[in-house]
Amino acid sequence: MLDDRQTEIRRLSHLAPPTTQAIIGSGLCSACSGATRAVTSPIDGSTIAQIPDCDASDVDRAVAAARRAFEARHWQGMAPKQRKRILVKWAELVAAEHLPLAVLESRDMGMPVGMADGFEVAFAIDALRWYAETADKIYDEMVQLEDNVTSLVFHAPLGVVGAILPWNAPAMIGAWKLGPALATGNSVILKPAEDASLVLMRIAELGLEAGLPEGVLQVVTGDGKAGAALAAHMDVDAITFTGSGEVGRHIMAAAAASNLKRVSLELGGKSANIVMADASDLESAAEVSVRFMFGNQGQVCEAPTRLLVQKPIREAFVEAVVKKAKSLKVGDPLELTSDLGPIINESQRAMILGRIEQATREGVRLALDGRTATVPQAGTYLAPSVATNVDPKGSLAQEEVFGPVLAVIEFDTVDEAIALANSTRYGLGASIWSSHLDTVLYASKRLVAGNIAVNGGTGPVVELPFGGFKQSGFGRDRSLHALEKYTDLKTVTLRTAR
Ligand code: NAP
Ligand code: MG
Repeated sequence: MLDDRQTEIRRLSHLAPPTTQAIIGSGLCSACSGATRAVTSPIDGSTIAQIPDCDASDVDRAVAAARRAFEARHWQGMAPKQRKRILVKWAELVAAEHLPLAVLESRDMGMPVGMADGFEVAFAIDALRWYAETADKIYDEMVQLEDNVTSLVFHAPLGVVGAILPWNAPAMIGAWKLGPALATGNSVILKPAEDASLVLMRIAELGLEAGLPEGVLQVVTGDGKAGAALAAHMDVDAITFTGSGEVGRHIMAAAAASNLKRVSLELGGKSANIVMADASDLESAAEVSVRFMFGNQGQVCEAPTRLLVQKPIREAFVEAVVKKAKSLKVGDPLELTSDLGPIINESQRAMILGRIEQATREGVRLALDGRTATVPQAGTYLAPSVATNVDPKGSLAQEEVFGPVLAVIEFDTVDEAIALANSTRYGLGASIWSSHLDTVLYASKRLVAGNIAVNGGTGPVVELPFGGFKQSGFGRDRSLHALEKYTDLKTVTLRTAR
């Protein structure tokens, strides 16, 4: 069975990417300038495709088409049931390409294919289906003010939404934004990250196949300049962004300097993973912590990158974590047996190595040094590292690494653990392992984090809102609450003669 799947993955990995064009206006197209950029694979640096290198003039064209579509009301004015049918069909077209998309994702950005298939693309499809179903379940409100005065409260779509995405889980994060923005009737312009565009380009093309009207879903490919043009555009009504704090700041500034477009930001994290000595199953706590920390090579915004361990179990627990981290297989992400693939690109790998270097100068000890492991030479691989003796104020405890580097810090009491957990500028995720309900509730109320997992929690399910406090951003993806990001309230008051 496994062999059959592996053979199929190998076959798919030799196919040319299905979509290599942008979508602007009436369909697939090149950049106005004709410029292209090479898409390379972090597996071996090979070129997989050439895609349009869009700039501000392409963004102008896309915004004009999005505005025309919105004003023509072909989408926002469509019967919600019909809108739902198109979105459901879209989700099913994506589902029909589940494995090819997972393989393409793996080639494009290095996620192990098992994770791309069973996790990322699977959660993307689930989110598209879920939001498709909301399209005809969004009810407006009515307020009876007087016997002859009736007010209607509409949840009106915003208009033209720019969705700017990161490279680390593009299909899934893309679905979290496209699903609710489209279900509520907006026109969306998608800007994938230059390092991971191919899967989103195909997903968007399938949207056109499913029947999304012209101008409702467009894709401008290329680097940050296309995103910057969207953020600064006078006729874009909202930007929904996932990525770094640095770019998030640029987007807010551009919104302020242009038309005060609405902005929502999902940014980085430095999530604490608190392991209390009274946790009932330390073995599975170690297993889950390691999987979550090193999955996707640690390139997960919510990864539990700070392991806070209570002193009595510190030694044994760290030993278990190191053993498990060491046993993870680093290699070709197209092999189903690989646990970690390559880092997204060479400069990101150099940045991670720089962080390890700096931390060692600050006095951390590497209980596991990923730099010394044997990994494939072609490609940007880096094995897991586990650092102990980490100063809670030091760089490894404070700065996001976005790579396979775990920082271990010890504590005595739960209050100390909470204070440590809250001592960074981030507030995205947190986890706690304990068999005492009192402890976990006490801690959960005090942890400043958008998403808290107790004794393992759950995966990135669409049913739950996702996002952060503090400098991890604002606004929530997923759940019905995400619909609020793409609509605003409009009241209509009717005064009748009798
Ligand atoms: P990034 O560098 O901030 O890029 C994100 C997106 O913004 C990319 O599409 C990028 O384009 C674009 N961009 C670059 N400069 C821009 C500008 N001046 N104006 C508008 N857009 C611009 O982030 P990344 O390296 O892709 O992703 C890693 C970061 O994302 C990490 O910090 C991670 O924590 C965070 N992240 C957060 C979440 C979350 O949900 N909270 C999830 C995943 C990742 P190009 O890349 O094409 O240049
Ligand atoms: Mg790539």
